[in-house]
Amino acid sequence: MTSLTLGLTLLLIAFVLLFISGRQRRAAGLPGGRVVYTDTRTWGAVEKPLFDANLGLTGKPDYLVEQNGRLIPVEVKTGRTPEAPYDSHIFQVAVYCLLVQKTSGKRPPHGIIHYPNRDFAVDYTPELESALLDLLAKIRRDEQRASVERSHEDAQRCRRCGFRNACDQKLA
Ligand code: SF4
Repeated sequence: MTSLTLGLTLLLIAFVLLFISGRQRRAAGLPGGRVVYTDTRTWGAVEKPLFDANLGLTGKPDYLVEQNGRLIPVEVKTGRTPEAPYDSHIFQVAVYCLLVQKTSGKRPPHGIIHYPNRDFAVDYTPELESALLDLLAKIRRDEQRASVERSHEDAQRCRRCGFRNACDQKLA
């Protein structure tokens, strides 16, 4: 897979993750994240992206923390600290958990999302992994299509969307 294809895959993943609704996640019984204290002094920067050829997936968490012989991915977010992690952030950290598992051979028990005022641990449950794998399969199907229909009627979401300028389906 070329770096361009990898880049596009990542872009597409980020794009589709934005469309995952909280209702869908909660209906599947997926974790919403729990507040944790983390010691940033133990965080190690990640030098190169994690890559799994079978999944055609690459990604680079902001940090990796070693805990009891396992690597925990950490994603740092700026901006407003939410009451609970955003769904797109949960799936993003799940991608990193999957990549850590594939590259280190050890399954992380959870990933961490670090917001300015609060940290959340997101348990990497079999349900979350399964939802993620379903999502990746859907992305691959959509990759074969010339265009993908907008999946929501939320103008606010379009206002915050990084793809807004290039999108011919934006609502705002
Ligand atoms: S602008 Fe709206 S419709 Fe277009 S990609 Fe973004 S969220 Fe989707």
